[in-house]
Amino acid sequence: PKSPFSAILPLKCAKKMQTQVEDSVKPIVDPHDIDPKLLQKLSYDALVFCSLRGLVVGDRNSEKSGTVPGVGMVHAPVALLPMSFPESQWKQACEVAPIFNELVDRVSQDGEFLQQSLSRTKKVDPFTSRLLEIHSKMLKINKKEEIRLGLHRSDYMLDEQTKLLLQIELNTISSSFSGLGCLVSELHRSLLHQYRERIALNPNKIPTNNSVNQFAEALAKAWNEYGDPRAVVMFVVQAEERNMYDQHWLSASLREKYPTLLTTTRKTLAEIDAHGELLEDGTLVVDGEAVAVIYFRAGYAPSDYHAESEWSARLLMEQSRAVKCPSISYHLAGTKKIQQELAKPNVLERFLENKEAIAKLRKCFAGLWSLDESNTVKDAIERPGLYVMKPQREGGGNNIYGEDVREALLKLQKEGTGSDAFILMQRIFPTVSHSILMREGIPHKEQTISELGIYGTYLRNKTEVLINQQAGYLMRTKVSSSNEGGVAAGFAVLDSIYLV
Ligand code: ADP
Ligand code: MG
Ligand code: MG
Repeated sequence: PKSPFSAILPLKCAKKMQTQVEDSVKPIVDPHDIDPKLLQKLSYDALVFCSLRGLVVGDRNSEKSGTVPGVGMVHAPVALLPMSFPESQWKQACEVAPIFNELVDRVSQDGEFLQQSLSRTKKVDPFTSRLLEIHSKMLKINKKEEIRLGLHRSDYMLDEQTKLLLQIELNTISSSFSGLGCLVSELHRSLLHQYRERIALNPNKIPTNNSVNQFAEALAKAWNEYGDPRAVVMFVVQAEERNMYDQHWLSASLREKYPTLLTTTRKTLAEIDAHGELLEDGTLVVDGEAVAVIYFRAGYAPSDYHAESEWSARLLMEQSRAVKCPSISYHLAGTKKIQQELAKPNVLERFLENKEAIAKLRKCFAGLWSLDESNTVKDAIERPGLYVMKPQREGGGNNIYGEDVREALLKLQKEGTGSDAFILMQRIFPTVSHSILMREGIPHKEQTISELGIYGTYLRNKTEVLINQQAGYLMRTKVSSSNEGGVAAGFAVLDSIYLV
């Protein structure tokens, strides 16, 4: 796609163009060539917007910034201007969101498939093994989750050579940035509006982003379905969380849905273990409050479980009749191993009937392999740059790239064990663009690549599907030389899209 930044005009030119249709001055093709004064103004206004509108994160330089709201805040890392994205692939990504939602739900109901697919991973990955242990306890007692809530984010990159929209992963737990992501779309729209004389981009080409409201709506509906107005929505959080404002945006939006009725609380896994109990009817009570919905923003990484107490908290919650977002089976359905299993021939057919829907999902699957596919492993050792090696982890910073792929594979071959902890994935090479990334108040001109996340909300009660929607988006942009992509992990910045 053509860069939208060809539309950034020198001031004189912009003014002149309003009166004169024909103009000999060429527009600037590149945001890296943006006039320094304009850059300064844009950056300044962006920083003011972030500060006034709560587009902020905790500042790692400030000691209490992960625990006390309002102390030690800094603007979220953001791109100064939106990233161009082709409209057809945008529509494609939106269209598959409800199908992925349905798929996760179907997979979650097939306990045997989850256990079987992860059985070998279990032997070599203690974290996945603990999750499976809880899952298998629930299977044994025949635990039924009648109200099922999914707040997912499916992430994609656009492969430059093939122009294919390829899925990176599907997050079913702690899908973050629904709160801050909407604000970035607003920031960009407001800058384009304000500087319309200098930047000839149409603010309306940035799609409306309502992710925080849609997440809140789904949580509120789940709370409502649970049916006890005194019960709370509990956010399970890490003790220190510099991304707390993203979460606070969501809880604020959630409380607005039922003002004076719906309350939210924030608890760590350790607190839930210390102050949580199950009543005879399965009601979860934490600190004297019944819990209607458990929303996890922690619990996806081994580091969230410091001791046995955190695992008992997870088990306690799973045993309860509260709505879990996600349940243990939704959590497992989002693992990379399951992603790889679903990409095998004839597996989607096990869960979905509609042939067109299946074809749509399959179209966005990249190459995915288990490490017992020896031809692929051999090729990955020869050409490691074409693969990414992934363990069963979330939160960024865990994958293996480049020469390290070869080394890791050779090491696993030598040791003869451990390869079931990983999957191999085709490395996707997106188009490199020019962006201006704002960090700690300073604009940086960088060569970048981007990853588009599409949120999906799903709620059902028994046989009735109450919500199944695409629910906004999150664009993340990172320097092209960086392998990883997490914003919280410090690799990427928040961005929005400009449809071309
Ligand atoms: P996590 O659950 O930790 O976010 P991901 O699968 O999303 O794991 O990988 C983290 C990051 O690594 C992604 O955001 C992306 O930037 C990069 N990445 C992952 N898979 C690929 C791939 N197949 N090709 C290129 N980059 C990838
Ligand atoms: Mg993930
Ligand atoms: Mg990811």
